[in-house]
Amino acid sequence: MSACIFCKIIAGDIPSAKVYEDDKVYAFRDINPQAPTHILVIPKEHIPGCDAVTAENSPVVARIFEVIPAIAKAEGLQEGYRVVSNCGAHAGQTVPHLHFHILGGKPLSLEMA
Ligand code: 5GP
Ligand code: ZN
Repeated sequence: MSACIFCKIIAGDIPSAKVYEDDKVYAFRDINPQAPTHILVIPKEHIPGCDAVTAENSPVVARIFEVIPAIAKAEGLQEGYRVVSNCGAHAGQTVPHLHFHILGGKPLSLEMA
């Protein structure tokens, strides 16, 4: 079994509040929300992070960016939302499985660092 938390979530070995699923993409609510709406969108394929995106695996990233606006619409984020992917230690990446945070539901701080 994979040691990766998000692979375990995809496999159903760790429970999650699922928001969306298709054959390549899974989305679920962040366990420690930083905004009223905080959803993580991940590829089912284990890709460690942004640095590991290649010409071969990038179609799933394109799929994720089709799924994100559909989730945002379903979640009522018409006023806007933020998409964030932390890559590596300085960015604070804590789970080494590529993921995109959708944050919204209130005006967000513009502070980036
Ligand atoms: P990162 O810090 O790597 O950009 O984001 C990882 C995110 O995963 C964090 O916001 C954290 O709250 C979330 N997270 C970590 N473990 C779990 C878990 O077991 N379930 C859920 N739903 N979210 C998790
Ligand atoms: Zn994984």
